[in-house]
Amino acid sequence: MTLKIYNSLSKTIEEFFPGDEKKENINDYSPITIYSCGPTVHNYAHIGNFRTFVFNDFLRRYLKFKNFKVNHAMNITDVDDKTIKGSNENDLTLKEYTEKYTKIFFNDLKTLNIEEVEHLPRATESINEMVDLISKLNDKNLVYKKDNSLYFSISKYNDYGKLSNLQNRDIKSGLRYDTDEYDKDDIRDFALWKDSKEGEISWDTPFGKGRPGWHIECSAMIRKIFNSTIDIHTGGVDLIFPHHENEMAQSEAAYNEKFVRYWIHVEHLLVGGKKMSKSLGNFYTLKDLLDKNYSARSIRYLLISSHYRKQLNFTLDGLQQADQALQRIDNFVFRLNKLESENIQTNDSKIKSICENFISNFTESLDNDLNISKGFGNLFDFIHNINSLIDSKKIDLSEKKIILSTLEKIDSVIGIIFFKKDSTLKDLDKEKIEKLIIERDQAKLNKNYERSDEIRDILKKDGILLEDSKEGTRWKKI
Ligand code: AMP
Ligand code: ZN
Repeated sequence: MTLKIYNSLSKTIEEFFPGDEKKENINDYSPITIYSCGPTVHNYAHIGNFRTFVFNDFLRRYLKFKNFKVNHAMNITDVDDKTIKGSNENDLTLKEYTEKYTKIFFNDLKTLNIEEVEHLPRATESINEMVDLISKLNDKNLVYKKDNSLYFSISKYNDYGKLSNLQNRDIKSGLRYDTDEYDKDDIRDFALWKDSKEGEISWDTPFGKGRPGWHIECSAMIRKIFNSTIDIHTGGVDLIFPHHENEMAQSEAAYNEKFVRYWIHVEHLLVGGKKMSKSLGNFYTLKDLLDKNYSARSIRYLLISSHYRKQLNFTLDGLQQADQALQRIDNFVFRLNKLESENIQTNDSKIKSICENFISNFTESLDNDLNISKGFGNLFDFIHNINSLIDSKKIDLSEKKIILSTLEKIDSVIGIIFFKKDSTLKDLDKEKIEKLIIERDQAKLNKNYERSDEIRDILKKDGILLEDSKEGTRWKKI
């Protein structure tokens, strides 16, 4: 089965394979080179940002599921207009300021069960590569200086606008933007290197003291890590213009080769129809939601479970629905784990083929431009089918193992099913909880309801909720 993905450059769904040449066997490919624009560490990331980061994680996990090897970089933007402004307002050095938010960001990634990628470059560690890139552009006459800043002259570069379809737009030749972000309606030359202003961090370079523009940073980090054309570049759709358009123009002009084979962009997370963003103030950080007692697992589920090219309207109700879907998965896993040999009456050995069919349907769904909604449909159909077989006592213990390992395989992509729900608890606490549950079961058998209620209350005070079902008692953190 071949994977097909929408490429924002060709604006079509294309068959995906790494490198320039299609090979017979997936093992014959070199690792897929992926670059994801990372966070600007000037504040807490919001869950709109995390929609894009969870997608990056899902994409990488799915490529691995398909047996590709991956070589993935995500940068940390630790110098730009916003980080400089933030550090000045807080009376901290740029490094002190950005390290604080970088640490928080890495913690949030862990909390959301996002895998660590192979490279985490910081922009400030690639200044030499930026200087090198600008010098190459300068040699090609694409750079000019104005008020001690350097600009890319887009009117001298014919290919400008390929990614965001700007070819026929009115380009304001000779007019400039100093700011890192600007609007598509007004296309002007962008700053490669900015004159250092009073109180701003700066680096000494052959073309004077200054600091980088945002766009040059990603181009330089990509060159430093991968040194040639990369397979995949990801980011939110807001980055298509100007950021990715500018990255592509600089890199292709400087190195005379294709910059990126597949551009993959994630649609926005919205609130009340508007993009969730810091500037609109309509955002939740991960911490905001965890403080409201929503679980990281339901946030991950909500963010991952709708198609990446569709806008997703965020509501707290949506999170509750995610919780309900997780409950169905948990009930199923719990039931499965509780199966004992004496439960089996007949074994009609359909399980192996049900599991294989499930994996093959799931793969077919995701091969079609990563249709995860359909993939979750496959998962819930599978749960339904197996539940019926459990009801009719048709599963033996070796089949239970096959089912669990099928779920593990699927979970290597979605990172939801066996996501540690109780990661904030130490093993010691878990042991204590399990002991109290056994004591409570015993108390109930002895009709000592006073003690069993007491144990329920003790655990509740510690934020542990007990749920009784016909398969036994389980607990969850509230
Ligand atoms: P930033 O820290 O602003 O540079 O953004 C980090 C990543 O989050 C980028 O890939 C953005 O495109 C993405 N992003 C920002 N806002 C949203 C949103 N509301 N929904 C989805 N992705 C977003
Ligand atoms: Zn970038």
